[in-house]
Amino acid sequence: MSQALYDIVSNEEMRLEWCEYCGLTRGPFETHHIKPVGSGGPDIRANKINLCVFGGCHTKAQKYEIKTHELIILVARREKATAAAVYTAIGIVIPKNIDEIEVLVTNSQASPKTVEDLLSMLVHTEQTDQEVRFLQGEIVDQLVKRGMNYPQISAAVGKSTAYWRVRHKTYLAFPTKNSRVPTLSWTHHKLAEATGDPKKWIEKAAGKNDQGEETGKEMSVRELRRAIESEAVKKGGVPTEQEEIDRAYRKARRVYNDVVELFSLGGEPAAWLVQELKQLLGEMPAQLVEGKKETLRRVK
Ligand SMILES: [Zn+2]
Repeated sequence: MSQALYDIVSNEEMRLEWCEYCGLTRGPFETHHIKPVGSGGPDIRANKINLCVFGGCHTKAQKYEIKTHELIILVARREKATAAAVYTAIGIVIPKNIDEIEVLVTNSQASPKTVEDLLSMLVHTEQTDQEVRFLQGEIVDQLVKRGMNYPQISAAVGKSTAYWRVRHKTYLAFPTKNSRVPTLSWTHHKLAEATGDPKKWIEKAAGKNDQGEETGKEMSVRELRRAIESEAVKKGGVPTEQEEIDRAYRKARRVYNDVVELFSLGGEPAAWLVQELKQLLGEMPAQLVEGKKETLRRVK
């Protein structure tokens, strides 16, 4: 018998940096009592497991959507004990199929899952993936607000400047959970962000028609991309004034990002660009510097 199973521990002592059920590394976490305290569950190691709040594992365990034996198996593996020993320590009657449970304890790779389990795991990981990408955008936003630019972030942690820029822009277009469509992927949101009207396009992708009524049919990423492209082509002949301004803004942003990237590299090319820009700004008519609409059209 493993004595550690009976060690009395505080919830804080059982804290880990990951969810023992799904592996999520984003906090906060809750220490879950497998046998509830209210039912006489003891404050010992065997009865405690670190579960995530964000991925929903703690709530699912409380509702018994995650089965008791699943948690017992995880604790038995963690404590290098048998499932029977964990049941006994906690004070839960050992179930009749204990032999099958013990096999799962020792055979972690081959734990059989139903098709339903596997499908719900896929959905769960998809949603986690979407959340993580938005979280990255939020973190980039914090860094940008503290004065970092995309090239600096890219130099510090890898990936391209465009990668972090797109994470950031997509987050800015859909900054809150309410503004996002949880059943659509992050890529849907990214495509919608790149249009002049992210909200309209994400609603379309979610299955709303032009009148704002639910059609019940979501678009795939490919369908959304085609719909955006075909509308752009349809309107291609006569872009509206707002679309023209949006396009010019996107171009301005790209140029600005290129300039920032070049400056961060330093050296002679950066010095040359500084000289050229200084001269250009000196020659520029006042109304362009002030951003009058007429001049925007003229330089187009
Ligand atoms: Zn979890």
